[in-house]
Amino acid sequence: MLARSDIASRLDAVRARIAAAEARFGRAPGSVQLLAVSKVQPAELIRAAHQHGQRAFGESYVQEACDKQALLGERALDWHFIGRIQRNKTKTIAAHFDWVHGLGDPRHAERLGAHRLTVSDEPLRCCLQVNLSGEASKAGVEPHALPELLAHCARIEGLRIEGLMTLPAPAEDIAAQRRPFAVLRALRDRLATPEQPLATLSMGMSDDLEAAVAEGATMVRIGTAVFGPRPRHP
Ligand SMILES: *Cc1c(COP(=O)(O)O)cnc(C)c1O
Repeated sequence: MLARSDIASRLDAVRARIAAAEARFGRAPGSVQLLAVSKVQPAELIRAAHQHGQRAFGESYVQEACDKQALLGERALDWHFIGRIQRNKTKTIAAHFDWVHGLGDPRHAERLGAHRLTVSDEPLRCCLQVNLSGEASKAGVEPHALPELLAHCARIEGLRIEGLMTLPAPAEDIAAQRRPFAVLRALRDRLATPEQPLATLSMGMSDDLEAAVAEGATMVRIGTAVFGPRPRHP
């Protein structure tokens, strides 16, 4: 586990990588937001990152996230749920997070929206997860089913669909890394409307950040590069 003092310099390095990628690929400065993925990392390191100007944090395990929110004060930070959604956790997710990135099931969407209405006037901001690797085990909706899921979710009160998210299988070189990100952006461009611009493309992690920025990512989800190697999830 890293010391608190390491976090500032690692955050600076990740911010520099994002800025360099924006410049290299003709993206506007500041157009790519950093989501610091703090799953399995202790509240101390989240606090250190927050003190160094980081506001948005990504968590994958509901109970662990709630425990850390209790220590840190939920409202000071923006909490993004990026893990696999389980039906019996939808109530807690709707109450304790600002964003959900892995939405791929219409029943989960309905439950999240209904619960959200009971706890907040602010809609839960969601990205629909698209499975671009064709693996049945992977979460997310297949591209052919995306238009129907989007139309369904757009009608659910309590949710606001902000855009699309994907989590591709690791690839070796930047050309291969860019391919699924280009597909996600093309899907977005095809489905976006003035009422539903799908402005957010949540894509890119520590090892493929540059490829994602090249293809139009607006939010990169970075864990290891900010917080170091993850301890095993208990
Ligand atoms: C863990 C995780 C990340 C961060 O991965 P790193 O390789 O550590 O940057 C990003 N997105 C999702 C959905 C994750 O589960």
